[in-house]
Amino acid sequence: TERTLVLVKPDGVERRLIGEVISRIERKGLTLVALDLRTVDRELASQHYAEHDGKPFFESLLEFITSGPVLAAVAEGPRAISAWRQLAGGTDPVEKAAPGSIRGDFGLEVQYNLVHGSDSPESAAREIKLWFPNL
Ligand code: ATP
Repeated sequence: TERTLVLVKPDGVERRLIGEVISRIERKGLTLVALDLRTVDRELASQHYAEHDGKPFFESLLEFITSGPVLAAVAEGPRAISAWRQLAGGTDPVEKAAPGSIRGDFGLEVQYNLVHGSDSPESAAREIKLWFPNL
């Protein structure tokens, strides 16, 4: 069994998609083991997105992710990392995310792509520790 970090980013929260996202995770059969609505500070945001430091979109990404409440969650199950990435769809909601995925169904712009999922066991471990140090 595996664990992955789930985020509903500020655009997803603002668009009232928390229920939709949680519903899809539950229908898939994953188990939610942590759930928290919070406003992210710059410190956490820049640690979370450390790999993008220096890229042209880094500043605007930090501004976006700190712009309003985020739903942070941890989902658990067999192949949870891959399962959640499939539910989310590719990073670009138009060119990469398939219809039927969350981004494919609800997204239009790369930055405002609604959700986040860890991309490997290493990033899942790092991200879960960062967002839920007591888990
Ligand atoms: P996430 O980490 O949010 O799940 P991802 O792993 O699919 O996304 P990454 O390439 O790690 O994609 O990019 C992290 C986030 O940065 C993206 O989800 C998106 O919000 C934003 N982003 C990525 N590329 C761009 C870009 N070219 N312009 C603006 N924002 C971008």
